Amino acid sequence: MRSMIPDYLTEALGDVEPDTSGEQAAYIPELAAADPDRLGAVFATVDGKVYGAGDTDTEFTIQSISKPFTYALALGDRGFDPVLAKVGVEPSGEAFNEISLESETGRPRNPMINAGAITAHSLAGPADMDPAERVERVVHGLSAFAGRRLGMDDAVCASEMEHAHRNLAIAHMLRSHGILTEDARAVVEGYTRQCSVLVTARDLAMMAATLANRGVNPLSGEQVIREPVVRQVLSVMATCGMYDAAGDWATQVGIPAKSGVAGGLIGALPGQIGIATFSPRLDPHGNSVRGVSLFERFSSDMGLHVMEVPAAARAVVRSNHVVGSGPDALRVFQLQGGIGFAAVERVVRETVDTAPAEARVALDLTMVHSLDDVARRMLLEIVRRLTLDGHEVYLVDPESIIPDPDPGDGGRVTVVGRLDQARTA
Ligand code: GLN
Repeated sequence: MRSMIPDYLTEALGDVEPDTSGEQAAYIPELAAADPDRLGAVFATVDGKVYGAGDTDTEFTIQSISKPFTYALALGDRGFDPVLAKVGVEPSGEAFNEISLESETGRPRNPMINAGAITAHSLAGPADMDPAERVERVVHGLSAFAGRRLGMDDAVCASEMEHAHRNLAIAHMLRSHGILTEDARAVVEGYTRQCSVLVTARDLAMMAATLANRGVNPLSGEQVIREPVVRQVLSVMATCGMYDAAGDWATQVGIPAKSGVAGGLIGALPGQIGIATFSPRLDPHGNSVRGVSLFERFSSDMGLHVMEVPAAARAVVRSNHVVGSGPDALRVFQLQGGIGFAAVERVVRETVDTAPAEARVALDLTMVHSLDDVARRMLLEIVRRLTLDGHEVYLVDPESIIPDPDPGDGGRVTVVGRLDQARTA
């Protein structure tokens, strides 16, 4: 059988292709000269499978899509507090190049607008780095997200620098507030080089998939950034990634995203996929016209909106029964599926409501396929409390889904691979 996913992507591209509305960014002359008809879309799953259609391997400059990744590098290199002291996380509702800072603190409102992104660039790498080393730190980091060494378009960079008056104005203003502590022009040059990094839609999908995959590049296996940083970056993408169109995007598409003026657009759906589209004509917000249409379509066709409420989990307690009789009687709670807070709460309720009369109790995890940290801790607390109530507790856990279970203070548990080992114990 042939996969239907590339066919679906081809069909979606065909639907948006006739739309030639919008304009290329004129303020970077080199970008205005690019082929406006390019069109591509790529899905990259969190386990590294890539599906694409159209112009998946055409290189273009990353532009503002570099912003969430550089913000991630700054958070990783400097830590949260120093970065948050200089760049806020409030959606500004303003255009990407608005010259505005928070009135009391002088901070840029968020790292997705240019003021915040220029600041975030200055915070990548250690404080005493020279500007060229900092650019290398950033390119190296962006490359790690993509899983290959990325190049740079010097012509686009020079073209933007020649007309960078607005970004220079922003940088000088940041410098006057003490948010930037380095030479304003050098920081804008570094930031412009960062924006001139060359990527393909395939690279962008992989970069987004790295965010969707808790910071681990699905192909290289490298942990590029830690999970708390991923959560921070995805949150800021969700609230600020589409500039003054962020609210429309959040309601209609609902995927943490970032656009760039060269026509790229990415979305990262936590735990599922990274998506990238490429189409250079932009709407008045500076977002790719056909890219936005494609994302609207992907989101509704495939139920990718992050606020889509999942079907209520199938009963986590598959059965609650007693095997054996007399003093050997064993109360068995057989659990199933993926267990998070809401599911483990059902297990707590079940164990409380059917307060086991039997001295021996087994929690059978054979059919549990995943367990988050909260669920693991609460299951161990169930074990501890049952022990304190005088029960002998068994964990049937053939695949060590809870490695080295330690129910803590006063708790005791015997781990077995099969239920019959608890029956005969
Ligand atoms: N390099 C561009 C700028 O700073 C990036 C803007 C964007 O992609 N929205 O203006």
